[in-house]
Amino acid sequence: MEQGQEAIQVEDFYHLADTALEIIIRFDKEGNILYGNQQAKTELGYGEELAGVNISSVFPAELQSEGGEISLDKVASMKEGMMYRKNGTCFPVRMTAFVDGAKNLLFAINVAKRIETERKLVRMKEEMEETIKVRNEFVANVTHELRTPVNGVKGHVTNMLEAGVTAEQKRTLDIITRCCENMSAIINNILDFSKLEAGKFTLEQKEFNFYQMVNHAVETNITAITAKGLHIIVNMDKTIPEYLIGDELRLTQILNNLLSNAVKFTSIGYINIEVTKTVQFDDEVELFFVVSDTGIGISQEEKDKLFKSFSQVDASITRKYGGTGLGLAITKQLVELMDGTIHLDSEKGKGSSFSYSVRLHVAQDKKEDVNVRGQFEFINQNQDMANFENMGEIFHYGTVENAEELRNKMEKLIICMEVGAWDKAETFSHNIKALVEEAPQEVKKAAFRLEMSVRKEKYDKAVEQYNGLKNLLEESIGGM
Ligand code: ADP
Repeated sequence: MEQGQEAIQVEDFYHLADTALEIIIRFDKEGNILYGNQQAKTELGYGEELAGVNISSVFPAELQSEGGEISLDKVASMKEGMMYRKNGTCFPVRMTAFVDGAKNLLFAINVAKRIETERKLVRMKEEMEETIKVRNEFVANVTHELRTPVNGVKGHVTNMLEAGVTAEQKRTLDIITRCCENMSAIINNILDFSKLEAGKFTLEQKEFNFYQMVNHAVETNITAITAKGLHIIVNMDKTIPEYLIGDELRLTQILNNLLSNAVKFTSIGYINIEVTKTVQFDDEVELFFVVSDTGIGISQEEKDKLFKSFSQVDASITRKYGGTGLGLAITKQLVELMDGTIHLDSEKGKGSSFSYSVRLHVAQDKKEDVNVRGQFEFINQNQDMANFENMGEIFHYGTVENAEELRNKMEKLIICMEVGAWDKAETFSHNIKALVEEAPQEVKKAAFRLEMSVRKEKYDKAVEQYNGLKNLLEESIGGM
């Protein structure tokens, strides 16, 4: 005995053993129980009569052999079994036995509850999977069925437009077409989402022109970008191979979703797309995309909600901008299917920057066209980054960037007023007010009054105030 260590007395051991949750049994080499702790006495139902009972009566299934002798080696090897009570009922246990001949020890714990819980969990999991399966099938069927009438409406509108309609009717039919397109987009999103959830989504592996893909995604959004007076910059790493193998449609969908969100949530400034090649080995490449904007931004708390299905950061934003909140959830899953990750950097009011990576294969025997970038309208055309480097200056009244943006928005505003596009005019007049935040009081007041008249859709008044503001701006910063 080392100094300082106390010997555990037999009484101490029994005392400790009585507080244990396990059943503890000591037995001799014939299997006769010498001692059982409190738990053993209670659980097995023998009470004080436990000492003297043979262990083979406690484990009849495992230990009662015809010869009547128990095998200590058998006891030592038992890890689980059924323990029988005095009254003939039983319960499952996990156990450990220490066997050394004369005095042997067995520790066992009743696992009936745990096994029951595990069974329940398995049952719940199966039920949940079944529910999800039924739900996904339902969603798939309903969305499929919805497509037909939407396409029907679209087709009839096209027929009517072709048959010739008045300008007023055309406006209404154009609205119907847009509604149908929105509805189709929502239906497609729901369909994609349910397929992704069910794990039934497979990516195509086909050769495509990567530059063309990026160009198409920009083209799809260009009308909205120019209508809002935004700038777009697309910069692509020259070392990215022209032809790649992957799912072009889904890659476009990812880029398009981020790009259309950037357009939706930005009213002044620019949208920037950067694509770089981060890794290339053998025939595999990893591409890194950044889609950034100078829009309304997303706060930290809001960030946590993104990428989850049906989540929009703010219900009031939903009403203003529309959408189902499925876009980013789908985007994230698609990126992950392409062995990539997606990340967001943003600050409320200061724009957002979504970055993601994807892995693709290089098409082997395709001849590269060195001038490929020149063929595509939006790629590396706006190379003069110097113009945009100072974009942060856009809100500082009197800077070149600010004057340029003001000129741009004033031009757009008057056009919208002339054609009676009051919704858009309101956005532009609001932007103008934001751009003159640091201007002298009289300029600020003029911008404020202009916004009020535009909001009330008072054409004459608005034009008068427009001219007033224009003169003031000309005096103050020139060249309006
Ligand atoms: P939806 O399909 O409704 O647009 P998304 O999943 O694409 O849904 O986006 C969810 C929400 O994330 C949007 O409603 C918006 O609040 C926020 N969000 C997404 N992109 C941007 C962005 N570029 N700038 C600011 N907010 C954004």
